[in-house]
Amino acid sequence: MKIALIAHDGKKTELVTFVMQNKELFDGVQVYATSTTGSFLETAGLNVTKVLSGPKGGDAQIAALVATGEIEVVFFFRDPLDKHPHEPDVQMLMRICDVHNIPLATNPAAARLVMASLRQ
Ligand code: PGA
Repeated sequence: MKIALIAHDGKKTELVTFVMQNKELFDGVQVYATSTTGSFLETAGLNVTKVLSGPKGGDAQIAALVATGEIEVVFFFRDPLDKHPHEPDVQMLMRICDVHNIPLATNPAAARLVMASLRQ
């Protein structure tokens, strides 16, 4: 299984905490992440395949992997209280997940539910 992990800057700490709480599951799958998020996760001890940083096209790269069937689940901890220059790419990634019926968790509560399902 291949999973994508992305977090806006204001949510990176929450994503790392979530991943650490579920580390044994994430250790058993291939994780893709945008560059800065991936660096945070590597520091926490996770093996990650990094794409470009989100604002440089990383979200678009993740969307392409979703569209081609490479990625089966996306966790994208978005920060709704901040502005993002790459908001069009964020919207595009969410749309592509919907087009291809790929589970997309955009906050920790949804992530916990998706994780509970993955554990079954
Ligand atoms: P980043 O990108 O992991 O490179 O910060 C995430 C994003 O903002 O889409």
